[in-house]
Amino acid sequence: MDIVETSPLGETSPLGEASLLAAFAEAMPIAARRASLTGGTGLVIVDEVNGFATVGAGPLAPARENASVARMITETDRLAHDFAARDWPILAFLDSHQPGKAEPPYPPHCEIGTGQENLVPGLAWLENCPQAQLMRKDCINGYIGAERPDGSNVVRDWIARYQLQSVVVVGICTDICVMDFVLTLLSARNHGLVAPLRDIVVYGPGCSTYNLPRDQALAIGLPATAGHPQELAHHLGLYVMAARGAVLADEIVFA
Ligand SMILES: [Zn+2]
Repeated sequence: MDIVETSPLGETSPLGEASLLAAFAEAMPIAARRASLTGGTGLVIVDEVNGFATVGAGPLAPARENASVARMITETDRLAHDFAARDWPILAFLDSHQPGKAEPPYPPHCEIGTGQENLVPGLAWLENCPQAQLMRKDCINGYIGAERPDGSNVVRDWIARYQLQSVVVVGICTDICVMDFVLTLLSARNHGLVAPLRDIVVYGPGCSTYNLPRDQALAIGLPATAGHPQELAHHLGLYVMAARGAVLADEIVFA
């Protein structure tokens, strides 16, 4: 007998994403806590661009309204205003590609000139925010994308310039661009590349990922392995980052 459930996203799934998520949370729990921030903290916003987060804005954007993505933007906007009001630094990555230059395994996305490569409307104010530095990157991992030809690195320089002891990371996708950046930054920290950085905080409500349940992947001609149920993938991303040493937060307060 097939059991069809309604997922938290309001979509039916024969795999029962809600049941799987509950089972995941039981077997691979995550423990988020309230993070109390002091000075010496920077905010990193990963790829909250139209091509990933504005409905209908491209092949990798949500096809319709998505509560998790909307929440991410609202939470990021709130945090960014909190940081700017305190004159704390913000670094925003913008996934941006030269037209025609592929980024396998993904279809063309966020090509320069399409508008997909720019911040979502709700965060466009950061383009004129004195505390914010915007950095375009052409690969998943923002730490790698920050490498300059001369061997210097935008992320390392930003951390050193502001003598950051902690960073808060938000953005999309939890299990892709956010995760790759956070895991690499953890290694960079442990290797002594980003002193005085100590804490890498991932704010879960400020992160999201895309939704492509297995049945929808099959329906559009993709293999089953393209299946990517949103809440499960988000949970997995948070779990892996926490397991590697990131601090998970579900609430941010300012000390
Ligand atoms: Zn890309």
